[in-house]
Amino acid sequence: MNFQEESLQNENQEDFGLPIPEGFENKQLRIAGVEPESFVDGPGIRFTIFTQGCKHHCLECHNPQTHDFNGGHLISLSELMEMIEENPLLDGVTFSGGDPMEQAETLVPLAREIKERGLNLIIYTGYTYEALIARQAENPARLELLTFADILVDGPFVLAQRSLSLKYRGSKNQRLIDVQASLSAGRAVLHQIQLEEMENRPDLFE
Ligand code: SF4
Repeated sequence: MNFQEESLQNENQEDFGLPIPEGFENKQLRIAGVEPESFVDGPGIRFTIFTQGCKHHCLECHNPQTHDFNGGHLISLSELMEMIEENPLLDGVTFSGGDPMEQAETLVPLAREIKERGLNLIIYTGYTYEALIARQAENPARLELLTFADILVDGPFVLAQRSLSLKYRGSKNQRLIDVQASLSAGRAVLHQIQLEEMENRPDLFE
């Protein structure tokens, strides 16, 4: 690091009163927006980040304004972390979209910091868990991002399988995957929330 870079880092540290977390330096995420207190993007009280950019173009997607990779606006990871820290009541953070996997490399340091602060992490993606694993060589950052997640809500929204009664997702093909159990088992393992849902409401899965 040269003198100028070191001065800039020191200034930023003073701005936020904290050391800059690893990987945050000059990193900016393109987002459509945030929901500082969400009750619908996973269990508990959550800070949801809607990333900008999605390639899936699901029919009747609820957030078409998030598809354009040049839309939304840029925000620094430090600014996002500061907003997250403002609410001591949060249970976790949700990366939604758009598709967060399209900015996986930028999200990795943020995900690491979120977990280090004891918050849980849910990631939504239009890719299936199996596709992310099978194509990890093409984009290793996606797998790295996955390693920080507690729950992955996977797969595109499929209009023909739409359901308004499912927890935290819009169509029957989408799954709540227990990421840590899945990585250990080497296959997709459904999260307890979905297992209980299947037991209590089998009609939703017919
Ligand atoms: S993956 Fe999500 S954001 Fe992307 S088109 Fe499908 S529903 Fe919309």
